[in-house]
Amino acid sequence: MEVIQSFTIDHTHLKPGIYVSRIDRGFTTFDLRITEPNREPAVAPAAMHSLEHLMATWFRNSEAKADVVYVGPMGCLTGMYVIMTGDYSVERMRGLTMQCLEWVLEQKAVPATTPETCGNYLLHDLPMCQWESRRYLARLRDDFHSEYTKLQVTLEDGKVFADA
Ligand SMILES: [Zn+2]
Repeated sequence: MEVIQSFTIDHTHLKPGIYVSRIDRGFTTFDLRITEPNREPAVAPAAMHSLEHLMATWFRNSEAKADVVYVGPMGCLTGMYVIMTGDYSVERMRGLTMQCLEWVLEQKAVPATTPETCGNYLLHDLPMCQWESRRYLARLRDDFHSEYTKLQVTLEDGKVFADA
């Protein structure tokens, strides 16, 4: 089995921000990194679940809705993946995500939280979702990161190999 691309990122130096995880067949996978992996607490499952419902709702109603393929949380609970078709820069995604988070902060309820519309409808936490959203929004505005640090491997001959 080959090591997949996202496992070659050095997660010990990954700052909250927005990154291009991969581009394939016209689809761009954006890494919306909300917390600093392995250094800060990850987003709590219930808060992440609410953020998924809210972000998916916003993106699928936004000016970019025709290009939204997928919105969903990372298994490590440190960020969200958004997959887009078309030509989207990190800066454009930054603008969209900031608009989305401002909308999340105004919400009084999480959409689609009934047994009919959600697979785990009791696993929601709007206050913590909004706490995470407020902090992420401030980071996107004031302390933005968008360049991955690749994992460096020192080879037997002493040369340093960096995946790029
Ligand atoms: Zn759900």
